[in-house]
Amino acid sequence: MADFDYDLVIIGAGPAGLTAGIYAARARMNVLLLEKAVPGGQIIVTDWIENYPGFPEGISGFDLAEKMKVQAEALGLKIDTSEVISLNLDKDVKEVVLREKTIKAKSLIIASGASPKKLGIGEDKYMGKGISFCATCDAPFFKDKTVVAIGGGDTAVQEAVYLTKFAKKVYLVHRRDELRAAKILQERAFANDKIEMVWDTVATGVDGFFGIEGVRVKNVKTGEEKTIKADGCFIWVGILPNTEFLGTKLDTDEYGFILADARMETSIPGVFAAGDVRNTPLRQVSTAVGDGAIAALSAEHYIENTIK
Ligand code: NAP
Repeated sequence: MADFDYDLVIIGAGPAGLTAGIYAARARMNVLLLEKAVPGGQIIVTDWIENYPGFPEGISGFDLAEKMKVQAEALGLKIDTSEVISLNLDKDVKEVVLREKTIKAKSLIIASGASPKKLGIGEDKYMGKGISFCATCDAPFFKDKTVVAIGGGDTAVQEAVYLTKFAKKVYLVHRRDELRAAKILQERAFANDKIEMVWDTVATGVDGFFGIEGVRVKNVKTGEEKTIKADGCFIWVGILPNTEFLGTKLDTDEYGFILADARMETSIPGVFAAGDVRNTPLRQVSTAVGDGAIAALSAEHYIENTIK
């Protein structure tokens, strides 16, 4: 029989991973949660969450993440700050390779979340100098300034509205003539005098020397090109799964999101996926929490039934 360090290792401390940790700790499993950055996942850069039940006034993403972490640790969950480099996924032993050591577990839950997609318009060069993916972090730098926000999904529309608390003008640039975002978010954006919609338009580049002075755009219907004068550019055009450490070990969809069944089990028995990293029709805190709970229960059953 193999020597195991843990029954269960959870990778990623967003809502899915923290919930899995809460359930595993309450099941008295020997569980470790690994997080390479700050616990909380993408919600720590979300200004306000108003669709997670139980908080009628809404709650800041940072505060919700902190409450989940405090609850998980109070129940005995051990959280380590460590980056997973790779995995060796044998039928019986799941090895998690960290920089400093390798951990052996009976079961794994991958809840490593997702990160903002880039457009290739100068993100690397201008990051921190005018281009940003995080309104909560950077909006105060644009007080009384003009900014461009790119995208038409929930993130772009919600965060564009948040930007208007600081910026004097927000151009919301979207590649179609219809937003993808939830209707309630659209209503708020359309009712906001500081937001001007720029329809059927894609960004092609940014201008500026020390910082951003303008965003180059092109109308996809007319072909017209122009520069919108702006001091900042926020990019919210979707997300990509955080799976660099995975290699090609698990089945994924065409975008790299992990395929899992109703029990959150992936193509390798004993390896589960939960939250935004999973191929799922809805990416919300509430769905991530549900995924995490199911994954923890499934991991517990897997260990009971499979590992001798
Ligand atoms: P998303 O829903 O995938 O939307 C991405 C947006 O960017 C779409 O409008 C898309 O246009 C546009 N886009 C994609 N690629 C582009 C490109 N190359 N150039 C220009 N535009 C491009 O991503 P998201 O808004 O980041 O949301 C991610 C997930 O988190 C979603 O499941 C969302 O529901 C969830 N979320 C929920 C909330 C909330 O409930 N309040 C808040 C934030 C995020 P098209 O529409 O034309 O495809």
